[in-house]
Amino acid sequence: MNDQDYTKFADILTSESPLPITDAQCRLFYDFMTAMKEMNQRVNLTRIVDEKDFIEKHLLDAITCPLKANEKQILDLGSGGGIPGVPLAIYYPDRHFTLIDSTAKKMKAVKAITEKIGLTNVTCISGRAEELGKQPEYREKFDAVCARAVAAFNILDELCAPFLKKGGTFYAWKGQQAEEEIAAAKAGPEKLGLGEIRIIQNLMLKSAAFHVIIQCDKIANTPSKYPRNYGRIVKKPLT
Ligand code: SAH
Repeated sequence: MNDQDYTKFADILTSESPLPITDAQCRLFYDFMTAMKEMNQRVNLTRIVDEKDFIEKHLLDAITCPLKANEKQILDLGSGGGIPGVPLAIYYPDRHFTLIDSTAKKMKAVKAITEKIGLTNVTCISGRAEELGKQPEYREKFDAVCARAVAAFNILDELCAPFLKKGGTFYAWKGQQAEEEIAAAKAGPEKLGLGEIRIIQNLMLKSAAFHVIIQCDKIANTPSKYPRNYGRIVKKPLT
């Protein structure tokens, strides 16, 4: 590690972060960024490579998710290059993060990155949400499900809800179109066992251009007919 590069990174991260960051976490964040940029030469994981952008748009955007203290088993659905799952796993070393993505090449790359940086609270799984969500091993097993930039909310609700335990929380990172997306989902969330939908404006971050987080609780079990197959979900989203 180049000391000067690391010092610059640590200065930006600690001055931009609204949350306290320990030295150990800071080093892991740096190792993650370095390993991801390196892997990105071979496998397309992200377009964000500028250091300040990486810190704001990947690291801080992920860790400012308002996870509750009792949420210990967390799923990142459509994790791609490992966001938000890996930064959250670095920030919360005593919680377990399962990352799912349908692109096996990406999950293989993220697994290699987490092994390289010595992160042990992450499991990477290649597969489709609508298939894994039907398997007893994964169905209604998570305290929280996170998803960033995966699908419109009226599709995402059906992909994510089956994984959540009753009492768990669904967190969907969205742009400023969140309200329209929620309106388009109509009674879909209710049919899936999800409760009241809240939009959390991320006031913690300095840049106004950031996402909001749609947050809702799982209040009833998801009927076994959901999720339907992907073609059906996309062609005829629940209303
Ligand atoms: N969450 C990451 C990646 C977003 S790109 C980030 O914010 O940077 C969206 C990812 O979702 C892609 O990697 C894609 O492969 C995955 N994806 C889309 N639909 C999916 C599905 N039905 N099941 C599993 N993964 C899916």
